[in-house]
Amino acid sequence: MPKPPPNVPPITPSNMIPPGQVNFSKEAINSAIEMKCLNEIKFNDSDEIKICGGQIFVEAARLRYISPIMSPTGQQTVATINVGKLCITCGKIFQPDEWLKKHHEEEKATKGTILDKSGK
Ligand SMILES: [Zn+2]
Repeated sequence: MPKPPPNVPPITPSNMIPPGQVNFSKEAINSAIEMKCLNEIKFNDSDEIKICGGQIFVEAARLRYISPIMSPTGQQTVATINVGKLCITCGKIFQPDEWLKKHHEEEKATKGTILDKSGK
């Protein structure tokens, strides 16, 4: 006879954290680095390309109309497909992965550099 499994605490709403979501302390938020949009913006009147630098993002979604024939409910349905964070400054999708990659590269590049208090 196999042993009964060890006591596993039951999953209750209080210890259930939705995947990908964490609660942060105020201190953690205050010490966090502001992520800025890295998308390149090209100005119409010149060939100059600038980094957007936008700091406000909204959840972006595509909408798909599903006809009654294809819908599981047999009714017209609008499906919401989340596509990520949209920068409101440049109107393009922001890629947090790219930001992290650049951030780590910058960390490597500045390793060992000690700035004085004036920041010079
Ligand atoms: Zn942007």
